[in-house]
Amino acid sequence: MDNLIICDRCGSDACYVQEVNEKIKNYQCYGCGFITNSLLKKDSEFFEEQIELLPNLYKELMGEDEDGKVWMPSTVNIPTKGMIFANGTNAENWKWSAVLAVPVKDKEKEKYPIPGKEGKFYEWRMDMENVKDFKEKDYMDALDYIGIFESEEK
Ligand SMILES: [Zn+2]
Repeated sequence: MDNLIICDRCGSDACYVQEVNEKIKNYQCYGCGFITNSLLKKDSEFFEEQIELLPNLYKELMGEDEDGKVWMPSTVNIPTKGMIFANGTNAENWKWSAVLAVPVKDKEKEKYPIPGKEGKFYEWRMDMENVKDFKEKDYMDALDYIGIFESEEK
């Protein structure tokens, strides 16, 4: 965990930094749930590309830090564990929604074919009926809920 730094957005000490190369770093804050990247600055081509496909809520929630990096809500999607995403109508009214992955039962597997692989089926699916909402500041609890801190072997 030596790559944890103080988050430039929320000030928590749980911002995970990943160095892609000398010039590029990815930032993912476990405190506030937001992410950014050294290239993610307003008016850059990279920025334009990144925001094009984002839901409106994500665009509304984006904000710059003092360094000019633009932070946006992260989307976690781990097929064997679950998903977490920002969910709501606007920046004043939203929550983190966490969905648990559940094993696909034998009798229902026909419903979850893997595209392009005939006769192969997904072993896990997102159980959308059991969405749990977390307040903005409770992002860590959402991570905990989908078991992100548990090892894979379990
Ligand atoms: Zn943060």
